[in-house]
Amino acid sequence: MKKGKKLYEGKAKILYAAPEKGTAIQHFKDHATAFNNLKQSTIEGKGILNNRISEHILSSLNQIGIETHLIKRINMREQLIKLVEIIPIEFVIRNIATGSLTKRLKIEDGTVLDKPLIEFFYKNDELNDPMIAREHIYAFEWATVEELEFIVNQCLRINDFMQGMFKGVGIKLVDFKLEFGRLIQNEKKRIILADEISPDTCRLWDVTSEEKLDKDRFRKDLGNLIEAYQEVARRLNILHEETNISSVKFGKLRSIRNKK
Ligand code: UDP
Repeated sequence: MKKGKKLYEGKAKILYAAPEKGTAIQHFKDHATAFNNLKQSTIEGKGILNNRISEHILSSLNQIGIETHLIKRINMREQLIKLVEIIPIEFVIRNIATGSLTKRLKIEDGTVLDKPLIEFFYKNDELNDPMIAREHIYAFEWATVEELEFIVNQCLRINDFMQGMFKGVGIKLVDFKLEFGRLIQNEKKRIILADEISPDTCRLWDVTSEEKLDKDRFRKDLGNLIEAYQEVARRLNILHEETNISSVKFGKLRSIRNKK
């Protein structure tokens, strides 16, 4: 598929125009950032794994009636998506307290929450993505009451589905981040899931060892990030030859597997 002009470049992805109107090509880079860009690195093969894992999760969500922007994966690093107007809010869903929540409120790391907790963050790098309340969303018209109700409900459905999917392969879904966008079709507006769902945007712990299989390996300098992402893909049964990233060094995967 012929890529058009670059529409947007973010930290981990680039968006290009696609031939058909209303669609775009989402390209996954190997770039990793944390702490609002203070820490940066290139991790060879990360984009390929995130593209594959995100495709798997979003297409599974599409199948259970949760509409997402994904149309199809088109190659190792790219997917064709529906172009949406992104709502400038990061929706964080938490099942276990860790990360910024534990720091902000001095909650003990690993505290299991009775029910999922949803937090809202305003997407703004300059301001370091500040946490906001529902009232800010309404006051500044980032979303309407109806839109937010719909999104929160979708967040809970997605959490339910993903918790089950990961539990089945021995992984705890600790927390994750979602983004949604508006799609106007036939003069009707719909809200659909956008962006990506991958180990870059989730916290995933092995059920028994609690080993981190997500971007915390980069944030906390734990090493073996690719091996961890590959382990997630392997357990989801999506590490096929076509995703063969043999040019990338994955030799240490066994060390993560055998530690269990
Ligand atoms: N997250 C993300 N993008 C962000 C911020 C957070 O994908 O810009 C994800 C993160 O990977 C984790 C969840 O959202 O799964 C909650 O992150 P938290 O608020 O604990 O932030 P952090 O500890 O990363 O600062």
